Amino acid sequence: MNVLLLGPQGSGKGTQAKRIEADYGIPHIATGDMLRAVMEHGTELGKRVRPIVESGQLVPDELMIDLIRDRLGEVDAEGGFVLDGFPRTLPQADALDGMLAEIVRTLSIVFEFQLADDVCRERMHRRAELEGRTDDTPEVIERRLSLYHEQTEPLVAHYRVAGNLVGIHADRAVDEVFAEVQEALDQVAARTA
Ligand code: AMP
Repeated sequence: MNVLLLGPQGSGKGTQAKRIEADYGIPHIATGDMLRAVMEHGTELGKRVRPIVESGQLVPDELMIDLIRDRLGEVDAEGGFVLDGFPRTLPQADALDGMLAEIVRTLSIVFEFQLADDVCRERMHRRAELEGRTDDTPEVIERRLSLYHEQTEPLVAHYRVAGNLVGIHADRAVDEVFAEVQEALDQVAARTA
């Protein structure tokens, strides 16, 4: 099963992705985590992306597309994946469509986690206190939210056309959200079985 999660920062995508990974045995591929790992290792790539990530801008499309192409080519992604944080722009979405077409695969389902901006802000501020991520400062949080609306939200229409989009009301308890996610995934699994 090839699953894609869309939604603003703080909408619980990462938490739900981890549950999907555990229950369905498909790897959680989170581009934010991949970039933070590269930054931690201090490689050339890490040095290049650090100022971009820390200021809440978007890393260039070509770089992200290469990163994802390599990752999807790894053996653990052969049986499916849950993609979180990519695509974030239309060129990235087009590139993903192309990559999947090449290996004769499609997205089984796209979830859109819906959450009001104020609730996102509140959750991100709380996470800033807990995790101390360098891109969770108030100014950077605002930039990331507006980039979500400008660059990423248009992807919802892109996937609606493809006909596999499911909206999820994300301002609820983790278990409640996951129950709905599971129901949708089980339907997909039954259809493709
Ligand atoms: P996240 O953990 O998903 O919030 O990502 C943290 C940061 O990594 C973002 O604010 C961006 O700077 C960068 N990033 C992650 N995924 C992408 C992507 N698909 N395209 C561009 N930048 C990305």
